[in-house]
Amino acid sequence: MTRLLIIGPPGSGKGTQAVHIARHFSIPAVSTGDIFRTNVSNETPLGVEAARYLDDGALVPDDLTNALVKDRLLEADLQPGFLLDGYPRTATQVTELDNMLASQSKRLDAVVELRAPDSELEQRMLQRAKEQGRKDDTIDVFRRRLDLYHNETHEVVAVYAGRGMLVSIDGSGDPGDITERAISAVEKFLAGGVKP
Ligand code: ADP
Repeated sequence: MTRLLIIGPPGSGKGTQAVHIARHFSIPAVSTGDIFRTNVSNETPLGVEAARYLDDGALVPDDLTNALVKDRLLEADLQPGFLLDGYPRTATQVTELDNMLASQSKRLDAVVELRAPDSELEQRMLQRAKEQGRKDDTIDVFRRRLDLYHNETHEVVAVYAGRGMLVSIDGSGDPGDITERAISAVEKFLAGGVKP
């Protein structure tokens, strides 16, 4: 019954780490970015609406995003636990998530924050642009997403830090080492609230 969030800037390897951490705790990883991208490529009504925000490196409006997460959190596979990747990203989304969980009498166990210097994030984004060809992996869009992270999502990190739930991980270096660091820090935290 583990409920986790993972927060990190664009290029921090958040999606990759989410999959490994979730596997370790035997919970599904739910990425709002992946859900939006799937909807965009399938040209669903949500995808058509969300595409322009994704392409611009802007946040999808809170009402659309909150409705999507609200539905997803009610699905059967997430009842035993989950790792949310990419949500919440704004203070409003934090409040919404609080309400969604309260209405199901559930609470979060820990929030993983991946940290890495901007210069390393930019290098990784350029690499990913070559490998995956994501439309939002261009230097201008990346910088916009990074600015948004520092300006908006920083607030989300501060809220969870204030609640004593934040487990901050050094997200630079080898991806396998980062996974190990993250898993052992979360386990320690869950066992006794010991922060790394
Ligand atoms: P990254 O961490 O590299 O920014 P994500 O896959 O998490 O990538 O998100 C990609 C895009 O999806 C974001 O730039 C944004 O447009 C949209 N998105 C994802 N999650 C949210 C959210 N919680 N609120 C608003 N927009 C979101």
